[in-house]
Amino acid sequence: MEGIVIIPIGKIDSEVLRDIANALKEAFHCEVEINKGISIPQDALNTRRRQYHSTTILKKIKSIKPENFNRVLSVIDVDLYVPELNFVFGEADIYSGVTVISLKRLRQEFYGLRPDKGLFHLRAIKEAIHEIGHTYGLDHCQNPKCIMYFSNTLRDTDNKGPGFCNTCLSLLEDYLVV
Ligand SMILES: [Zn+2]
Ligand SMILES: [Zn+2]
Repeated sequence: MEGIVIIPIGKIDSEVLRDIANALKEAFHCEVEINKGISIPQDALNTRRRQYHSTTILKKIKSIKPENFNRVLSVIDVDLYVPELNFVFGEADIYSGVTVISLKRLRQEFYGLRPDKGLFHLRAIKEAIHEIGHTYGLDHCQNPKCIMYFSNTLRDTDNKGPGFCNTCLSLLEDYLVV
């Protein structure tokens, strides 16, 4: 089925999951379901970096991907990394349609600022649309306002989206029409 299933990894606030689900439904015009969660795969933990390897998490999610959905967004609340970078907000495996986003760095509190729930949810929505966008064949976009722009910092995330630029939107629409 053309659809997205959301899999929480570890304990995730249900309100933010609901907001993400609604935003994905609207952006990709498909069914979105929130599944029962799984526990955090401890083999992904790098004890030296005190972060979790996002590619290991993707592999785990791939192994439990439900057959009735062709895309997965997994959501985790620990810091993620890939060896080449200090951290990542998320990662996508475009071949399997499996993605992961981390909520850890999306809260104002992470930076010693006052909590802002609306901003936190909006950032989570942006990261989710960005990663799922990759599974529709969209690459990184050079337009800093487009949701497919690569977020190096949270400032990039705050500055972009949540919509697609016209170029990305027309690529996505070509895909959605099929
Ligand atoms: Zn990306
Ligand atoms: Zn774009």
